[in-house]
Amino acid sequence: TVVAELRDITIAFPGVKALDGVDLVLRAGEIHALMGENGAGKSTLIKALTGVYAIDSGTVEVGGRPRRFSGTADAQAAGIATVYQEVNLCTNLSVGENVMLGREVRGRLGIDWSATHRAARTALELLGLQIDTRTSLSSHSIAVQQLIAIARATVLESAVLVLDEPTSSLDRSEVEQLFAVVRRMRDTGVAVLFVTHFLDQVYELCDRITVLRNGRRVGEFPTAELPRRELVSTMLGRELARLEA
Ligand code: ADP
Ligand code: MG
Ligand code: MG
Repeated sequence: TVVAELRDITIAFPGVKALDGVDLVLRAGEIHALMGENGAGKSTLIKALTGVYAIDSGTVEVGGRPRRFSGTADAQAAGIATVYQEVNLCTNLSVGENVMLGREVRGRLGIDWSATHRAARTALELLGLQIDTRTSLSSHSIAVQQLIAIARATVLESAVLVLDEPTSSLDRSEVEQLFAVVRRMRDTGVAVLFVTHFLDQVYELCDRITVLRNGRRVGEFPTAELPRRELVSTMLGRELARLEA
């Protein structure tokens, strides 16, 4: 099932067409890689999907409905969750408060904090995470904070999870843990968009890949049907081919 569909997206900045007629289709239960050299338009495409940038032309559909996001809150309400390298959570709140922000459990006398923390713990445990929800967010590593941000996406029942180069500051075991959580998200039917510079990660984790170059889509393939060598030689461009060499 198609969850999000971007068609013919064009976004121009003074002097540069960052995106020039790009299509992107995200399906439920699929991890979709987005690759391309620096400046290819990956972040701009993500920002179009997450409501950061207004699009100049083209269409965005989420959940089968045409959308025109006027900001990130708008996109979030439509079911799109984003996890950036720099985590966008509240460092002065606890883990549980972050997971449940805006979804706190209400009792007769206002927010029921023990029920709220219990719900946060459940959300974390569903992703295989054992984290004390009463600890402050800032006491955890960036890697753990990203996992907490993903747990928050499950509480918001987001249909799309966007990860923009999430592994840049993670070590190998943190990457493994992130991938395990992303796979669980995929297996619950979330459509995952994963921006990465690493082909290893594409072939390890992703079901499908879209490649951008100079603001255009060069191709879109199931990774199982596209051998790595072919991807490098036909689509990725010189910069990434050099990284692979
Ligand atoms: P990528 O994420 O693939 O490296 P970007 O989407 O960041 O590429 O950038 C695509 C092009 O758009 C680049 O030429 C970049 O310089 C330009 N660009 C991106 N964001 C802006 C902006 N806010 N203002 C002006 N130019 C931008
Ligand atoms: Mg860039
Ligand atoms: Mg980028």
